[in-house]
Amino acid sequence: MAQRQQPMVILSEDNERTQGEDAQDSNIRAGKAVANSVRTTLGPKGMDKMLVGSSGDVTITNDGATILNKMDIEHPAAQMLVEVAETQEIEVGDGTTTASVLAGELLAEAEELLDQDLHPTVIVEGYHEAAKLAHEAVDDQTLAVDLDDDTLEAVARSSMTGKGTGDVTVDALAEPVVSAVQQVATDAGVDREDIHIHTHPGASTSATELIEGVVIDETPLDDAAPSQLADATTAILDTDLEFDTGEADAEYNITDVDQLNEAIAAEEAELEGYAETIADAGVELLFVTGDIDDRVASHLAAEEIVAFEDIGSSDADAIAAATGARQLGTLEDIEDADLGTTAALSVETYGEDKFTFVEGADAAHVSLFVRGSTDHVVDELERALNDALDVVIAALDAGGVVGGAGAAEIAIADHVRSHAASVEGRKQLAIEAFATAVDELPRTLAENTGMDPIDALVDLRARHDAQGRAGLVSTGRSGKVGDPVEEDILDPAAVKHEAVDSATEAATMILRIDDVISSDN
Ligand code: ADP
Ligand code: MG
Repeated sequence: MAQRQQPMVILSEDNERTQGEDAQDSNIRAGKAVANSVRTTLGPKGMDKMLVGSSGDVTITNDGATILNKMDIEHPAAQMLVEVAETQEIEVGDGTTTASVLAGELLAEAEELLDQDLHPTVIVEGYHEAAKLAHEAVDDQTLAVDLDDDTLEAVARSSMTGKGTGDVTVDALAEPVVSAVQQVATDAGVDREDIHIHTHPGASTSATELIEGVVIDETPLDDAAPSQLADATTAILDTDLEFDTGEADAEYNITDVDQLNEAIAAEEAELEGYAETIADAGVELLFVTGDIDDRVASHLAAEEIVAFEDIGSSDADAIAAATGARQLGTLEDIEDADLGTTAALSVETYGEDKFTFVEGADAAHVSLFVRGSTDHVVDELERALNDALDVVIAALDAGGVVGGAGAAEIAIADHVRSHAASVEGRKQLAIEAFATAVDELPRTLAENTGMDPIDALVDLRARHDAQGRAGLVSTGRSGKVGDPVEEDILDPAAVKHEAVDSATEAATMILRIDDVISSDN
């Protein structure tokens, strides 16, 4: 009889290893814990979290991705749930809490199935099959409506309801958000980069305005320059406007006073030449990314050209998009086609700060100028606006809208559950478990609205069966079962599709792991 071999040791002693059920238990618990940490923020009546960083900095937010990102999460499986929120944020910009709660629930349900000795691969297969059914249900719930401004504003409002938007109502925010998106939309879709959010804390009242162009922190070089201009011919120079000492003919061998005077005169002439070239081209408004020599500045002022220096490169890009001007590397060969038009320039003072608004007639770049009393208000406003921009773009560019307030989720659970009955074997249990996990979303919405979750689910299902759509509409202080579409509560279909995908992906990935090996190095 062969002698029994000792197991070969291939891992150094620095490695920590958890295997089999222990690894699974620990991963599932970690994943559930992460999902639980955001669940009370779901929906319009969700609560906020206050996050205190290591240096004492405070963030108050209701945003799932922000919460998970600011929490110092170490467990590797928990990290994967944080990634769910991140993926969701990157792909569609909203639905992060929905995706995290769903991922956590898929894990919780899987835990029970594992206890009943279902093999993880059966659960994984069942979940994937259920996810396909979920997409069908979302497609089925996608409304055949025109994505006009009213519809898009409803989508924007739904994403912001319950967010800390300070003393600004979501109605006042939804309109500029939709206008901003419509302004930069082209046949090829919307590039999120074309919309900038410019924030200004320290204002007495909060407000958000759409600027058809750019807000920059700089003011004109010449203090005496007018603070308003209309229809100004605009040039952008991506260089310095200084005496160019790099050129060969700029080197002088100065031996006497006459030569010195000549050199100074030559330099002066060159600098004046810059201003003349610019004036001859018909430029009335000039943005320079580099420095402008004081003497050039005074010549420009004499020509009544309003000039700005030290414009950041992204501001220069934005000014170009807003005014139609091209960025020039040199003044040589400046021609009409290089120039743009600033429909309105205005220098405004807010408290101790001054901003310049540069607006174009048909700007391909727009800004939302956000004022609020404190950093906290402004930050949360910015997050709400970001979500709103993203959902409007997702609705417009990626597949329309569904009824919100849990309606898509009820439809998913119903479709998945009714299909499960026809599946043979133990996989059926996994598919049913997926439906139960999805139920947790409307259940959580009910809880966060102060409704009885069991009654709410029963009512929701009954109404869904009867009318094909049912949501937990929260109005004022309470909630009721109703038709979210009638109440203008709309979410992008893409947010639901992505939540299904990212949650399923993370949960199944965690379930496939039966061995956790961690090294210190
Ligand atoms: P997420 O991070 O998943 O987007 P939110 O806290 O933003 O989480 O909540 C989103 C959910 O709130 C969506 O299902 C949306 O339809 C729902 N919702 C928005 N407005 C209302 C409302 N007035 N009544 C009920 N549900 C609403
Ligand atoms: Mg949201």
